Amino acid sequence: MSPSTEIPKTYDPNSVEEHWLQEWKDEDNYFDPVSTKPQFIIDTPPPYPTGNFHIGNGFNWCYIDFIARYKRMRGFNVMFPQGWDCHGLPTEVKVEEIHGITKNDVSRDEFRQMCRDLTIQNIEKMRATMRRCGFSTDWSNEYITMMPEYYRKTQISFLRMLKAGDIYQSEHPVNFCTRCETAIAFAEVAYEDRTTLLNFFEFDGVEIATSRPELLAACVAVAVHPDDERYTETKGKTLTVPLFGHNVPVITDEAVDPEFGSGAVMICTFGDKQDVYWWKQHNLDLRKAIDSSGKMTAIAAPYDGLTSKECRERILADMKEQGILNRQEKLDQRVGTCWRCKTPIEILSERQWFVKIHNEGIIKAAKDIMWTPDHMYSRLENWASQMEWDWCISRQRVFATPIPVWFCDGCGEKILPDEADLPIDPTAESPKHPCPVCGGTSFTGETDVLDTWMDSSISVLNVTGWDGGDIPERFPAQIRPQGHDIIRTWAFYTILRSLALTGSKPWEEILVNGMVLGEDGFKMSKSRNNIIPPEDILKDYGADAFRQWSAIGAATGSDIVFTWNDVVAGSRFQTKLWNIARFVLMQAGDAGSLTADSVTVLTDRWLMCRLSATVAEVTEAMEAYQFDRAIRAIREFSRDVFADNYIELVKGRLYEDEGSARDSALYTLRTALATICRMFAPITPFFSEECYSYLGAGSVHAAGWPDLSFADAYADRNGALLAEVVSEVRRFKHDNKIALNAPLGSVFVYADQEIDDAGDASRALNAAVTWTTEKPQLERVVSDVKFTMGVIGPALRNKARGFMDAVRALSEEDLCCGVSSVTVDGEEVAVPENAYEPVYSFRVAGEEVDVLTLNDGVIVTVSRTA
Ligand SMILES: [Zn+2]
Ligand SMILES: [Zn+2]
Repeated sequence: MSPSTEIPKTYDPNSVEEHWLQEWKDEDNYFDPVSTKPQFIIDTPPPYPTGNFHIGNGFNWCYIDFIARYKRMRGFNVMFPQGWDCHGLPTEVKVEEIHGITKNDVSRDEFRQMCRDLTIQNIEKMRATMRRCGFSTDWSNEYITMMPEYYRKTQISFLRMLKAGDIYQSEHPVNFCTRCETAIAFAEVAYEDRTTLLNFFEFDGVEIATSRPELLAACVAVAVHPDDERYTETKGKTLTVPLFGHNVPVITDEAVDPEFGSGAVMICTFGDKQDVYWWKQHNLDLRKAIDSSGKMTAIAAPYDGLTSKECRERILADMKEQGILNRQEKLDQRVGTCWRCKTPIEILSERQWFVKIHNEGIIKAAKDIMWTPDHMYSRLENWASQMEWDWCISRQRVFATPIPVWFCDGCGEKILPDEADLPIDPTAESPKHPCPVCGGTSFTGETDVLDTWMDSSISVLNVTGWDGGDIPERFPAQIRPQGHDIIRTWAFYTILRSLALTGSKPWEEILVNGMVLGEDGFKMSKSRNNIIPPEDILKDYGADAFRQWSAIGAATGSDIVFTWNDVVAGSRFQTKLWNIARFVLMQAGDAGSLTADSVTVLTDRWLMCRLSATVAEVTEAMEAYQFDRAIRAIREFSRDVFADNYIELVKGRLYEDEGSARDSALYTLRTALATICRMFAPITPFFSEECYSYLGAGSVHAAGWPDLSFADAYADRNGALLAEVVSEVRRFKHDNKIALNAPLGSVFVYADQEIDDAGDASRALNAAVTWTTEKPQLERVVSDVKFTMGVIGPALRNKARGFMDAVRALSEEDLCCGVSSVTVDGEEVAVPENAYEPVYSFRVAGEEVDVLTLNDGVIVTVSRTA
């Protein structure tokens, strides 16, 4: 333990935080695989390694770290792993940009290596920020999805689900981004509102309205409502598609809205989901007019080779020229776009791999998970119940987990590797055995790769110890913390995959955090220029202030606005608490040998009650993940109760007293400081460690969570009264410009019982304080007169002075009751309205006192003269 004289006067967060970063060991945060403590495994989100650990990540990780540290203190064997979800398009795009190439300029292998190199550099940068934030990450449980040991598991999970019939390959319409040149899942479609033009033209006299004339070449039918009498004659006939000349049937379907346009719609393969439904329902032809790069195909001749946008312009121009475009109307519509690049998606029919979605099982499992806040559950339920298509998991990209499948060139048979041989890249390796069907030895490896969510949706299996077997040793995890923006992806897919691979839910609980908004209240974005990098906050205020902002800025689950004010408030609170801690340490720093038996004095017993109540409140808040409530309770107790009331009450005793009464205060001070440090440790790990280190009781993070139950109803009630009396009289001194340490005369407290405060009130007020149950014998007297010069001046002019003298000379009774006139220089002068009012004061036994009225009818009299 350091002697109390060495405690620095000011708290410098940066030097303190740097110091503890050096002192702390990674091993302290490792999950212990052989521990007998109950496990608490956190299925931490694996961020995408962009190189920037942004403030949204920081906010999310603060929550995780609060929980991890809290649970460790509660005696759990905590695993706070750190994953990196590496695969995907953004890295491919970045690599193309950095090297000035496209993915097709180099071999697949070379391109992947470039992606891996960039990813490793980015991870390194993000790790540094995470460490600086003080997160108690378990680096022994780090995983990187692009590493063979991880994607081997992704491949095993693929094979398992394929063999179980939960994964299949099929030609089916899928959402497709023609810029990224890959299929995407429904969850990756973002929606935007746009205004477009609805174009009206005719198919053999039947008017059709469409917003996508470029799909005319893909038209396979015209549909009308079966009851629409306008088309009774047309049903069952064929119509000729303008410009292209192919014939299409007229079909009827209940789903056609007769009110929209002319009541006749063209069905194309594919304009939207409805087209897909009709196409299946009526067994229509497939006409692919747009290819995977977004260009028009030969079917669209003479427009083939154009982009769909160019084609649309040319078709409309041609229609105008030929006089077949009847009219155009504005149309508001929601357009599905690629979530990464915002290109409007196309629905293309492609040979793809799919995961079967069993909505009901997912909803049932999700219901069985505890959601915080609980309303977030409905987001998952809504999403799951509206899923109509299976999950498309194949991507036509490079940097991703390869799909471990070959096809026999002889007979087309699907050839699967042995699990023991995984991981494999089927484009670079061959099967070990000839084709079991035809004996052929020539194979083609699948070039499609897996959706990144196939990697990240087994994160929970990975951290609970899955190695391809049935149910992992430590499955399910205790909690999944994540943002609400990825409920329909990461949460949904994880539940789906856990059910498919283990038959049960992935976690006991899920904690959903909100998004971070800029100071202007908008989502942070480059274009709004409202991005705050965490490094800026760390540099100026340190990690603990940043962490306090995360805790207090919003209720759990709500979006949080970043404000420097909250960070500054956090920093100021640290300064305040540091001053409190210094005082306590200088007084009670070496009082570590005292025990709870020392607490005898009312003030101390009261503080112990309040401290117990605070521990109960903070514990309840932490259990419910209400970090804002927890930090508010800590701040309120430390500042208002401990510093402003308690310390002021006991200071005198510490300076003047010796023996047991002093020990009572010393024990209480020390216990309160240690308890504050322990409660505050999950939120401000550096600050708490620094303060606690001066108590000579080891690391605060190794200390248990405070367990305090000091119950003393008498002290709780009367200590509160004592604190109130002292604070009211101190306020009275302040209001009357009397120095707080200046002596007063006697102070009487008229309450319903006499309190033995061991002299604390007298010392705190520098006055003789007497508690009495008697009723105060107060005598009210007029002690002065207060004149209203604004009334007297104009009304009485040169008689004002004489008037005031005359009023002062009035009897006490006349002053109280009021008179209509007074005599000034022998002349009767009327008293103007509101000219004066009497000032009353009180006397007790002939001595003038001030009277303060407290709650519960307690009266305090103060005589100012000592
Ligand atoms: Zn895209
Ligand atoms: Zn074969």
